[in-house]
Amino acid sequence: MAEAPKKETFAFQAEIAQLMSLIVNTFYSNKEIFLRELISNSSDALDKIRYESLTDPTKLEAEKDLKVEIIPDAAAGTLTIIDTGIGMTKADLVNNLGTIAKSGTKGFMEALTAGADISMIGQFGVGFYSAYLVADRVVVRSKHNDDEEYIWESTAGGSFTVEVAEEPRLTRGTEMVLYLKEDQTEFAEEKKIKEIVKKHSEFIGYPIRLQVQKEKDVDVEEPEEEKKDDEDETKVEEVDEEEEKKEKKTEKVTYNEMEELNTNKPIWTRSPETVTKEEYASFYKSLTNDWEDHLAVKHFAVEGQLEFKAILFVPKRAPFDMFENRKKPNNVKLYVRRVFIMDNCEEIIPEYLSFVKGVVDSEDLPLNISRETLQQSKILKVIRKNIVKKVLEMLNEIAEDKDSYKTLWEQFAKNIKLGVHEDSTNRSKLAELLRYSSSKSGEEMTSLKDYVTRMPEHQKDIFYITGESKAVVSTSPFVEKVKRKGLEVLYMTDPIDEYSVQQLKEYEGKKLVSVTKEGLDLGEDEEEKKKQEDDKAAYEGLCKTIKEVLDEKVEKVVVSNRLVDAPCCLVTGQFGWSANMERIMKAQALRDSTMATYMASKKTMEINPDHAIVKALREKCASDSGDKTVKDLVWLLYETALLTSGFNLDEPTTFADRIHRMIKLGLQGLGVSVEDDAPAGEADEDDMPDLEDDHADQEDASKMEEVD
Ligand code: ADP
Repeated sequence: MAEAPKKETFAFQAEIAQLMSLIVNTFYSNKEIFLRELISNSSDALDKIRYESLTDPTKLEAEKDLKVEIIPDAAAGTLTIIDTGIGMTKADLVNNLGTIAKSGTKGFMEALTAGADISMIGQFGVGFYSAYLVADRVVVRSKHNDDEEYIWESTAGGSFTVEVAEEPRLTRGTEMVLYLKEDQTEFAEEKKIKEIVKKHSEFIGYPIRLQVQKEKDVDVEEPEEEKKDDEDETKVEEVDEEEEKKEKKTEKVTYNEMEELNTNKPIWTRSPETVTKEEYASFYKSLTNDWEDHLAVKHFAVEGQLEFKAILFVPKRAPFDMFENRKKPNNVKLYVRRVFIMDNCEEIIPEYLSFVKGVVDSEDLPLNISRETLQQSKILKVIRKNIVKKVLEMLNEIAEDKDSYKTLWEQFAKNIKLGVHEDSTNRSKLAELLRYSSSKSGEEMTSLKDYVTRMPEHQKDIFYITGESKAVVSTSPFVEKVKRKGLEVLYMTDPIDEYSVQQLKEYEGKKLVSVTKEGLDLGEDEEEKKKQEDDKAAYEGLCKTIKEVLDEKVEKVVVSNRLVDAPCCLVTGQFGWSANMERIMKAQALRDSTMATYMASKKTMEINPDHAIVKALREKCASDSGDKTVKDLVWLLYETALLTSGFNLDEPTTFADRIHRMIKLGLQGLGVSVEDDAPAGEADEDDMPDLEDDHADQEDASKMEEVD
């Protein structure tokens, strides 16, 4: 005996259950967006089967007509959405509609708590569940080429069922029946549906047909009576017109008809002058699921060697998962002669511009192009080149308006910097789009162009510093002298800056020079040069002593030309990592540490010849260079320089021990006796005498020797 098909029950994945209960229970008035989400899913499913059929036409055998149908039934209180898309297998139904959590589920709930709008649901990839805004029960039938027809059903509440359809009725695709909540029956009204589709789904690339009710008059006369030959008829007319009218009784009957709701021709095929701002916005929204308008749009046609039309948009916001998710963002859709070919065509736009959305419609590509052949396509290479050019044009146009550009920069600075790093062809154009804080920009940001116009005549290079934050770099010892000389320093505080500036190297023939790297040339005049020479000679001995103490910790020790208030700093080699880069690489926890050893910064210690500590140290060394306290001080100077120069301490405890010894000395200098083994921190504060002006200073040197 054959077993009756089983209805299996599944629990929704916890976060999805939570999301559904949120959707069901949240008071929210803009419920109509559910239809946009479901139509958008249908359109995606149609895209998928269309794409598969390009390489395997048999995939369309079961159903060639690619469409979406909407069937309202006011009497039953249901709304049905049917598509002839790819459909779902049983496994798909179980996984996609309930058991596999998506990264967006949690993200969306967090966004909601933070005040986001439910209409943003599509961006988080959980649009299907918006059906529960209007329905308390949803039944999904689906037929995939590779499986039988299955029925999914749920009234929310934590679980759903799946069973095989005993009476299959789909050729291929998905049918969703929404049992509308009692107070949501307006969504079964023709007028309402037309309005929503017009508003949200006008630019879907497949016909959306609504089942509408029409009325017509139908004759109710017996057909036989009408069957008279011409002669007879004339006779009858002649005889009695009145009588004939009475005989032709009619009756009003209602019947159903499918009415296409999106009959407009594709918007990109129209000439830009005829498209309104609202139409672009509406098209953009239908393309991206964004709930806000775009920031900028570029609509153009390329003609000549090859022909294509395109509409490209820059959104106002980066998607929540732009750089985290391995899932490729939905960006540029490729069409060939108005036929949708694929989403996310990677070959059409470089990765760093992945925030650009839009459509490209080629006249030249073959219809049956696959992802594999795309990679080799010369046509596509030309299209790509043109698209990048147009996007850069668009970005430059945005840059003309300060506020708009601010929005763009806040959202997509990383992309542009990535572009500078990756796209050597367009590097100089992209450089125009860069913005940085600087020692002269205040709260604003500056472009490289503006920086250059502010450069004094004698300044040859563009100076920058990389580091963790504006607070850190703007107070760094490296920028002291540069600023004092009236030169401007760009603050690069985004990790990616390290990468992009390495590639950029120069702007308008001016070298980009890091103030934390060795060989800094600040354009010294003759007098300054002379002083430098003198200092070099005067401090040769101290430099040598320091190098001997620190040994391989530093490459060399030299007299600095960049310090004002700090006694010393640690600079890195021209081509090695900066301290900041070392920090970034450590944070990324390189699996392979060989690179780190190879690239790790070779440090040069620079000492400030005008600093009191350095001067005093030189004097002390001149009389007794082997002194142990001198060694201790040199190490302390080195370690504090590590910190102020942006490095990490290798051995913080050793550093702390040294500091504690200094504290003891300070206390002893104040005439307090400190036991040798007691940690400095335990000294009772109450016992401390008031600090007396010069007392400590005078005693310092001699006491230090005693301690070591
Ligand atoms: P998204 O569509 O953003 O991925 P949804 O929650 O709206 O998220 O849908 C979840 C998944 O269910 C989709 O990714 C798709 O695989 C599947 N799905 C939804 N609707 C359909 C449909 N009409 N036809 C085929 N598959 C669908």
